[in-house]
Amino acid sequence: MNEEEEEDMTSAPVQFRFVPRFRRQNIPVLQEPSPLSRCVASIQGKPLGQARVITAYKRQGSWLWIWWDGRFGWVDLSNLESRGWRASQVSSFDPRESFAGDNFIAPRGLFVLGPDLGGFFATNLMTTVPSIIVFTSTVKNFPHAAVFKVVLAYLYATTTYLLWRAALTEPGILPRNPPDAKPSLPAGCEDAPDLKICHTCNLVRPARSKHCGSCNNCVELFDHHCPWLGTCVARRNYAWFSLFLMSEVILIIYVAFVTALRFRAEYLKFGDVPRDFAADLVEHDPWPLAALAVAVALSFPVISLLAFHWRLAAIAQTTNESVRGVYRHHSNRNNLGCRANCANAALNLCRHTPPSRILHLDRRKPPERDLELHSRCFYGTCPS
Ligand SMILES: [Zn+2]
Ligand SMILES: [Zn+2]
Repeated sequence: MNEEEEEDMTSAPVQFRFVPRFRRQNIPVLQEPSPLSRCVASIQGKPLGQARVITAYKRQGSWLWIWWDGRFGWVDLSNLESRGWRASQVSSFDPRESFAGDNFIAPRGLFVLGPDLGGFFATNLMTTVPSIIVFTSTVKNFPHAAVFKVVLAYLYATTTYLLWRAALTEPGILPRNPPDAKPSLPAGCEDAPDLKICHTCNLVRPARSKHCGSCNNCVELFDHHCPWLGTCVARRNYAWFSLFLMSEVILIIYVAFVTALRFRAEYLKFGDVPRDFAADLVEHDPWPLAALAVAVALSFPVISLLAFHWRLAAIAQTTNESVRGVYRHHSNRNNLGCRANCANAALNLCRHTPPSRILHLDRRKPPERDLELHSRCFYGTCPS
């Protein structure tokens, strides 16, 4: 830091406190930091529910010098943190650590979790409980119980594997630019409806991508944020999600089928006597009924969701596009006709997961080079 800057910092007005967005009118606008200014920290928060990232260019003790939407001044870090903002030091720009949004990225990028872990836990529970009941109780007196158990174990293991792959695979997060980068739409694309600048991630969003409010990240080929997986369903985990849905439907049907066989066996035990076999079952072994109740409760949402996604595959749209009616007023250039769309969707289920954009970033790059690299627009050419 040179002497001039030191002078500037010590004479800066230190009386600024952090002022929420709606009360900021009185902060004077003095100057915009030069594009070459080094960012020393990034401050992330959700004022009024909207995720924002602010850049700090200078630091002195617990005070940070910030520039935000044309306004700047010194803010007290302890004051910021007491208001729910989170400051992260930026010694070198690392999208994995400083700009992970609300996702949890495991060391070495082994897996990426979304923010809704409760939903993921509930889905595991709803898959596991009926399976355990059928395994331990429903097939107990069946003549070929072992066969039923092997089939169930296979279905359960497959479903759980697909569920975990869908939930733990990095969905396709777009790495953020440093907060002081200034992304701009490529020349000639200013009116392209697909390309948008995300001011939170500070990047030009590729077509069919969206900033997920729950994960607080831009996600490539965004389908939807799935509360039951706890993460986004997008470019990299859509195939796992689809396979999980199909597997879950088969598991539900199997649980219902085995429970129906058990009911039939109980009913036949009493011969022609019109006894209330269900009451007898509740009295002696109520667990198969509980498994059936869970399977029936799950069947409607899961089967309708699968049917909905098959329909989306046939018309080559994402859930997000379908819900927002994106193609109501202009044609969908991804739509190649029903047969070709279905063939594409089926092929996508077999393809390798595309490489992640955030897990393979080189963390050792010096910040200057990173700034240059990440200031670039993701897609240099207009997609239309
Ligand atoms: Zn974004
Ligand atoms: Zn999300």
